[in-house]
Amino acid sequence: MNKFMRKYGLTDYTGRILHEEYSSEVKKRLAELVASFQAFDTTGVPGIPYITAWKHDDNIMWYEFAGHHFTRLFGCGTRELAARFRDAVVDHRLFHWSEVEAGIKETVRSGQELSGMRSGLRAEVAQKGNVEADYKVSLGDESAYIWLKDRARVENFPEDRISLSFGFLTDVTNEMVHKDLLEQIGYFDQLTSLPNRIIMHRSLELKIAEYQRNHIDDFVFLLMDIDHFKEVNDGYGHRAGDYILATLAQVMNDVKRRSDDIGRFGGEEFYGITLGDIYEGKEFAERVRQRIEITPFVFDGQSIPLTISIGVTAASELDELTGEKLIDEADKRLYRAKSYGRNQVIWENITF
Ligand code: GH3
Ligand code: MG
Ligand code: MG
Repeated sequence: MNKFMRKYGLTDYTGRILHEEYSSEVKKRLAELVASFQAFDTTGVPGIPYITAWKHDDNIMWYEFAGHHFTRLFGCGTRELAARFRDAVVDHRLFHWSEVEAGIKETVRSGQELSGMRSGLRAEVAQKGNVEADYKVSLGDESAYIWLKDRARVENFPEDRISLSFGFLTDVTNEMVHKDLLEQIGYFDQLTSLPNRIIMHRSLELKIAEYQRNHIDDFVFLLMDIDHFKEVNDGYGHRAGDYILATLAQVMNDVKRRSDDIGRFGGEEFYGITLGDIYEGKEFAERVRQRIEITPFVFDGQSIPLTISIGVTAASELDELTGEKLIDEADKRLYRAKSYGRNQVIWENITF
């Protein structure tokens, strides 16, 4: 026991600073913090107090103190905690308070990205003073994870070339799971669980880029619309209509191959994106159309006959390839499928 440990009553101190060559300014500050965090840790207040330190000359961060919940969570001692925590982080969101920019900036980084830039982050944080971050932490098996919110303050000791960070972790798993869910709802249609138009635009952008870089020879866009759907709603009720939309989505998912994309374009319209030329696209559309024609849609004991019309356009057909032009052309063909009697696929320009 050295004089700082004695003076501050740090009987089970497991850190390094008090045993190593640092100024008494650093040692005094650290001992003070450990003493108060230790006291806090015994109160049973929710939240996990911790103190970390890192030298400015290398990237290695270690724990000077960790609340008992923290070491229990990771099943290790304070000395192994930094490595265990680092390995367990699967996602990370950092918010820092910038006095200059006035506002909170959110940065989303995956665990992998994070490990490559840890020292940069630390330098960033050292300047800012206050930091808040959310960590998604894996607890062993793949499905079990928790979100920890970290609120900390950084103090720099330039003469000792060391920084201390001290703060609290709180379990915000419920809040973050809710947030993830909200993000998902934004991209997936609730009724059918299919991707919505935001995803469609993104998929089209990616496919167009692949096509233009010659990574793929061609791809096809499908626009599909339920025939006389208004009559279904009018005749069987809106709930029956909803049931059909959800069931239709399942049928389409069942027909498609892994590489095909299917989503809800809006209302009773669906889109499809499939690799291959116009003939392959037409085959795919025919498979979907025929499957729906023979599928029994039964709601409240009533069998509801259903058919769809499909317009199909290939990327290679367009002089100027954009998502909008693909959609426009497929829409024109869909319109023709309707006017020729519905329940059919139109995949070429028919002129009379
Ligand atoms: P067409 O063969 O020409 O496509 O005829 P249609 O009746 O399908 O065409 P129209 O565009 O006139 O009607 C589409 C209907 O789809 C109207 C709307 O009430 C219904 N619809 C759109 N979204 C939903 C939904 O989420 N649930 C239900 N139940 N109906 C919907
Ligand atoms: Mg329609
Ligand atoms: Mg319709």
